[in-house]
Amino acid sequence: MPNILDGKKLAQEIELILQQAIQSGSEVANRPPGLAVLRVGNDPASGVYVNYKEKACNRIGVRSFAKHVKEDIALEELLEIIQSFNQDKNVDGILLQLPLPSHLDEASLLRSIDPDKDADGLHPMNLGRLIKGEKGPRSCTPAGVMALLEKNEITIEGKRAVVVGRSILVGKPMALMLEAANATVTVAHSRTKDLPSLTRQADLLVVAAGKPNLIGKNHVSDNCVVVDVGIHRLPTDPKNLRETKKDKLCGDVKIFEIEDKVAAYSPVPGGVGPMTVTMLLANTVDRWQKHCGLPLTISHLLP
Ligand code: NAP
Repeated sequence: MPNILDGKKLAQEIELILQQAIQSGSEVANRPPGLAVLRVGNDPASGVYVNYKEKACNRIGVRSFAKHVKEDIALEELLEIIQSFNQDKNVDGILLQLPLPSHLDEASLLRSIDPDKDADGLHPMNLGRLIKGEKGPRSCTPAGVMALLEKNEITIEGKRAVVVGRSILVGKPMALMLEAANATVTVAHSRTKDLPSLTRQADLLVVAAGKPNLIGKNHVSDNCVVVDVGIHRLPTDPKNLRETKKDKLCGDVKIFEIEDKVAAYSPVPGGVGPMTVTMLLANTVDRWQKHCGLPLTISHLLP
């Protein structure tokens, strides 16, 4: 039987650690940690994710400063909002919910976030820190994958890892984190030729292509560990484009084809998704401890 990498359970365990850190530090800090989540426009998936993040903040005692602005906001106006969060002493982490409407320059907005409050680890300075192996806020999804592998005692050192996807949000930082943990890493993307023969060489396969059911039994070798980052909502009624609670979620991997073959896999839902939110909280609490001069008790949770 393969080992199921249960992100929901691990996320709950880590949330408890974060909650305890907040309780024990709040008196000295004289305030709780603060996370500002900035949402632009009405992308429905972003609405769902922002909602999860606010609920998670409430569960563990992080103060949430949510700001939802209209789709056609000007870049300058958004930069001003980010500046005000940068200067707000009650805000320890800032997250700009992606994707943004096409008229906005994502790179300049991410660069305008104070790197010390970069809850998503996407500021160029923090990506540079990741390349150099220096401590700093880490991209939440790959950080969550690393925590999931560690918790399940999956050895990374010396393993042949293949990451499918090279986005700044997931694929690239994932590859860097695996390499820092001494895996030998290959990154595949949409122009990679003969993906199955490459992924079959992997002891550890992380899939973040954003293509439902891309990976099946021909892509994996026996005893591989498969982490499925992809998340897709499949409408129960394809004619109705509005999301409903009956819609099914699936990942980039056809789990039913590989589950009897592999050593371990992460399910969708309940695998990487909950870990992403938890690592966002971990980055925020870590920043708060730093900003308030508290002992850095949770930084070991970040890769
Ligand atoms: P993205 O920006 O669209 O990047 C997708 C990457 O996959 C690109 O590098 C692309 O290659 C590559 N790719 C696309 N089709 C491919 C194919 N057929 N074969 C090999 N590579 C292919 O997506 P993302 O932001 O990284 O997210 C990836 C997935 O993870 C999405 O489903 C997203 O919803 C999900 N996600 C989940 C979480 C979570 O918490 N569970 C968090 C973030 C993202 P090119 O570079 O050549 O275009």
